[in-house]
Amino acid sequence: MKIHLKQDYQYRTIWNVVGKIPGTQSPDEWVIAGNHRDAWVYGAVDPNSGTAAMLEAAHGIGELLKSGWKPKRTLMLASWDAEEEGLIGSTEWAEQHDKELARAVAYFNMDVGVSGPNFSASAVPSLKQFVREVTKAVSSPAGGTVFEAWKERRSRESAREPNREEPENNRVAATSEVRVGDLGSGSDFTAFLQHLGVPATDISSGGDYGVYHSAFDNFAWFKKFGDPTFAYEQQMARVFGLEALRMADVDVLPYDYENYGREISSYLESAQKKSVEKLGKKAPDYGAALTAARRMMAAGAAIAAKQKDPSVDAAKLNRVLRDTEAALLLPQGLPNRPWFRHAIYAPGEYTGYAAVVIPGVNEAIDAGDEARTQQQLAALTAAINRAAEKLESFR
Ligand SMILES: [Zn+2]
Repeated sequence: MKIHLKQDYQYRTIWNVVGKIPGTQSPDEWVIAGNHRDAWVYGAVDPNSGTAAMLEAAHGIGELLKSGWKPKRTLMLASWDAEEEGLIGSTEWAEQHDKELARAVAYFNMDVGVSGPNFSASAVPSLKQFVREVTKAVSSPAGGTVFEAWKERRSRESAREPNREEPENNRVAATSEVRVGDLGSGSDFTAFLQHLGVPATDISSGGDYGVYHSAFDNFAWFKKFGDPTFAYEQQMARVFGLEALRMADVDVLPYDYENYGREISSYLESAQKKSVEKLGKKAPDYGAALTAARRMMAAGAAIAAKQKDPSVDAAKLNRVLRDTEAALLLPQGLPNRPWFRHAIYAPGEYTGYAAVVIPGVNEAIDAGDEARTQQQLAALTAAINRAAEKLESFR
């Protein structure tokens, strides 16, 4: 079979629209909440259901501003262009503002806002509990809170299919709390997290969305199947808006680095097992990496006590907390794709949207390359130790 492809290559102007509310206390600490605006065809769900919810969050924030409220940190709302063409709008903006973004405290993404009633989220481990807390404060159209509806559905699903959505490297997170996924790619958080080390989250309310990226993703489908009463649109506006408001106004940044260290430990244990299966006796020694992850967990637990201490120097503590995520960036980036610098998360080279965790190591094992596995494990260990050291530096 032959396929003849005709591509329409041309320079075109794209537009990001970014609204900015300057912070009163820490204007350099940006909180950015964004969603893309371009669509393959009509895009009622992808991205307009997210855009509608973001605009409604903007509406609410506007009402707050009218009442005299101002955020402590600078709050930005971004409508990205050319996401479907390769995350172009958000990537260009993030690269252009890389200096300022070194101090940004969070990027909150929402792409497919609503295609049904099932809430789900992905985040860096430091923000997984933050997302759960936000959903405990928003009511669900199904009754109770978004968190309760989310948790109930997850436990129903795992009773039906015990292994579903609980890959081995996430078994820790799945034990007591509802699972928050890992950030892969396929949306605008990529440049923020994987290139610049800005802590990020991504939220969605999903369902049977068979019309994805087609001409049938239109208003008629949305009204008939997606969200007939628009109640889930309201829910997503609230969750998205509340993420931004809480992060903009909180005194001490709510990152959980004990959990980050714990998740890294579990990624390492899975990789260790896979190493032995794939490389046999040539599998590297994971001792130093596991020690580094345990060190990060301990440092995360120690700083958690400081995060709860009202007498702490919050500005100083916040700088340390923020710099810890950036300490996880690899100075050389990943092999063959140096633009991707995060040591813990990357889009897989062959997995599409799904995340590959500790990508340098896992992809080296998959390639059966023992020398590269050794070298990537050393680079990863150094990154984890940098993050631990950063946390320990707070006195
Ligand atoms: Zn999209």
